[in-house]
Amino acid sequence: MSAHALLGASSSYKWLHCTPSARLEEQFENTTSTFAEEGTAAHALGEYKIRTFLGESLERPISDYDSEELEEYTDVYLTLAIELIAKAREACTDPLILVEQRLDYACYVPEGFGTGDLIIVADGTLDIVDLKYGRGVAVSAKDNPQMKLYALGALTLFDVLYDIEIVRMTICQPRLENISSYEIKTSELLEWVETELKPKANMAYKGEGDFLPGEHCRFCRAKQTCRARTEHFLELAQYDFALPALLEDEEIIQILPLAEKLASWANDIYVYATDKALNENKEWLGYKLVEGRSNRKYKNEQEVISKLLEAGYKDIYKQSLLGLSEMEKLLGKNVFNELLGSLVEKPQGKLTLVPISDKRQDVKNTVKDDFEEETK
Ligand code: SF4
Repeated sequence: MSAHALLGASSSYKWLHCTPSARLEEQFENTTSTFAEEGTAAHALGEYKIRTFLGESLERPISDYDSEELEEYTDVYLTLAIELIAKAREACTDPLILVEQRLDYACYVPEGFGTGDLIIVADGTLDIVDLKYGRGVAVSAKDNPQMKLYALGALTLFDVLYDIEIVRMTICQPRLENISSYEIKTSELLEWVETELKPKANMAYKGEGDFLPGEHCRFCRAKQTCRARTEHFLELAQYDFALPALLEDEEIIQILPLAEKLASWANDIYVYATDKALNENKEWLGYKLVEGRSNRKYKNEQEVISKLLEAGYKDIYKQSLLGLSEMEKLLGKNVFNELLGSLVEKPQGKLTLVPISDKRQDVKNTVKDDFEEETK
């Protein structure tokens, strides 16, 4: 059986919104990335830590991603797990605790299954915890379909024995300092199954329904050549640049968010076309492959040194300090902060216009104040 379900929990947000996407994606290879591999390493270490806490004797997993950072962030996950386990033990003398448990929800979604990172079943309450190791966007547990599917898989296994009334879903994103929790009644969850999940999952399984572009396209393997997404962007691009000859501020305000989306879509197309040209010798009419700009470099540093020393040159070296990231890796985060915290500064970044929803602090007033200060 495939390690990935067609209608997997982690991609549910996408196939619940755009039901034919899962079948369309089958035409594209499911490639992995270093981010995914790093996530797998974090899950393995997190699992090891929780199981060890629970008294199991295991060999510690080793990976290329082992670092001080991985250690610290999986400790955040462990601390959360310990808190939830303690809470469950207060509520019930012998809670059921499962780590990296396969959860089957095929009775609601054809062939559906996934893996729950941590599941705690105590009388009346089910805890589902999902570790997300990425640095991307903070994800909320509220109404999160991935978490609901895990919950359904766990309910299928344990509801009869434990009579679960409340499901608490928690997402732990240690690198974003985001721990999001949301509680839902089992009855509400089952209502969602009937009103939304089952009908959409059946459509998705058959590849039926309308293609519906949106934020979820970012994670779709078909996004580069998806016609619906292209038509959506072309519609956006056909903005009616009405008279007068110059755009009004109001129009610029409307175009800005569209321009951002268009740039991202155009980049996807460019990446796709370049990949085909590079890897499949595809020729695109009117385009060619050329070498990008590159900088000269020594072929062999050792030979260069010997040659220069022979020629009597001595002053050929320069010494430089390790960069911040390398130094932090060398010292570890805590020692780095202790020794160098007060000696590190973050210069002001290049000013960038971003949507108001962006989390960063608005700098408009500071810039204006600085400007006024300088002109006094
Ligand atoms: S790119 Fe977007 S619209 Fe197209 S199939 Fe994927 S999710 Fe649906």
